[in-house]
Amino acid sequence: MAFDFDLYVIGAGSGGVRASRFAAGFGARVAVAESRYLGGTCVNVGCVPKKLLVYGAHYHEEFEQASGFGWTVGTPTFDWPTLIANKNREIERLNGIYRNLLVHSGVTLHEGHARLLDAHTVEINGERHTAEHILIATGGWPQIPDIPGKEHAITSNEAFYLPELPRRIIVVGGGYIAVEFASIFNGLGAQTTQLYRGELFLRGFDGSVREHLRDELVKKGLDLRFNADIARIDKREDGALLATLKNGDVIETDCVFYATGRRPMLDNLGLENTGVQLNDDGFVQVDEEYRSTEPSILAIGDVIGGPALTPVALAEGMAVSRRLFKPEQYRKVDYDLIPTAVFSLPNIGTVGMTTEAALAAGHRIKRYESRFRPMKLTLTEAQEKTLMKLIVDADTDRVLGCHMVGPDAGEIVQGLAVALKAGATKQVFDDTIGIHPTAAEEFVTMRTPLQD
Ligand code: FAD
Ligand code: NDP
Repeated sequence: MAFDFDLYVIGAGSGGVRASRFAAGFGARVAVAESRYLGGTCVNVGCVPKKLLVYGAHYHEEFEQASGFGWTVGTPTFDWPTLIANKNREIERLNGIYRNLLVHSGVTLHEGHARLLDAHTVEINGERHTAEHILIATGGWPQIPDIPGKEHAITSNEAFYLPELPRRIIVVGGGYIAVEFASIFNGLGAQTTQLYRGELFLRGFDGSVREHLRDELVKKGLDLRFNADIARIDKREDGALLATLKNGDVIETDCVFYATGRRPMLDNLGLENTGVQLNDDGFVQVDEEYRSTEPSILAIGDVIGGPALTPVALAEGMAVSRRLFKPEQYRKVDYDLIPTAVFSLPNIGTVGMTTEAALAAGHRIKRYESRFRPMKLTLTEAQEKTLMKLIVDADTDRVLGCHMVGPDAGEIVQGLAVALKAGATKQVFDDTIGIHPTAAEEFVTMRTPLQD
């Protein structure tokens, strides 16, 4: 059967753009459908605008610290609409770059909502297109628990476009997004409360990291409450919101922001017209080569429920396009030792095993920790402390995990991730000469393991 395209990609986000560009570069006839925004979540309502807001929030501290270095700064004022307008302009510039990237790679762009009609046919804007392979790269969408008054709450999607900075805000959740946005709003001057339903936020991160960040955020004035969750939200006539917690406490606020996880975006996708099955968590079920249970349909990125990170979606998109159209260059994605950062203030950077995971996996471990006040703060009143931690296998000397809470943690840990991928031992770290004076040199100068 002759198809219109070799590959039809649904979703021009991180994974979809990467897969379609490279497939076209390998000579395939490719189309990509996008219903909302080119570049997907990361570019429009994720990584990029988030990081810009984090930069914006950090100025608050920079102004305070400047006087220690002899600078006199007038009383700084902050204008949210300016930050949002400038951010929007940058996102529009990036949207244009993505459009050019696709078009110049020879990809046919269809703007609209795509729906599967069968295993080889997509319908969009009333037209039907057939393809030998169809790739679902439709990403995820925020979800709010079903509580009375949930319609008064916002998610990250809306937070990026708030017309004004709320004077008071409650952030619900204890994952990446909640922690990052609590830092953003707190840094920009909103009276910020973060509620997390468990004992300590950032489940899955190293215990020392979670405790260290908790202490630093509290120092910065964040009202951080654990074992706390909202039972209902009511809106008063004057517009203020009343959040009633499960323990009966009531908090008056101007905005309630839920960051309680994301679901796969499968709305009106027409999966029922195909043999594509979902796994127990509702994500598209795929095999190791991203094939769904319908042989001609593949899926990558957030919609398959793996690590929800842009570089992972990019790697998966690359793998799919290579396997289909450049098999001699195909390599499986290696999910081992994926580094990540949480762009809270201060940042977290992490790669490899946590203490808890290493012990659970049966390793005998040595732990090295260093806590210090960054040099830049020594002329200031700021009491922020940096944490660096190494977890080493006591039997093989191999470094199992590197964790950091402090300025530029993501920048520093990215380099260490290469060392861990290469199988570096603690001896290799010890033999590495530091760069002085930096915070990063601490990772190669820790000599005394913690005593249990
Ligand atoms: P997406 O990028 O979500 O793209 C999916 C695209 O498909 C969207 O553009 C959507 O409009 C389109 N689409 C959906 N359905 C259809 C349809 N039926 N027809 C046509 N088009 C459709 N990751 C990091 O690595 N670092 C970070 O700092 C980071 N920060 C984040 C901050 C926030 C607030 C959020 C929400 C996410 C963040 N992420 C971050 C995660 C990252 O954004 C995602 O992992 C990544 O975007 C997933 O890429 P994807 O290709 O799977 O999907
Ligand atoms: P996460 O899965 O990271 O965190 C969800 C949080 O919400 C958890 O603390 C969870 O608690 C809590 N939660 C879940 N359900 C409920 C509920 N019903 N009531 C109260 N609390 C609840 O999701 P996010 O939304 O923060 O982010 C989604 C993903 O996007 C991240 O996992 C990450 O992969 C990606 N991302 C990456 C970033 C980065 O790389 N810097 C930044 C932002 C997002 P519990 O732990 O108890 O389950």
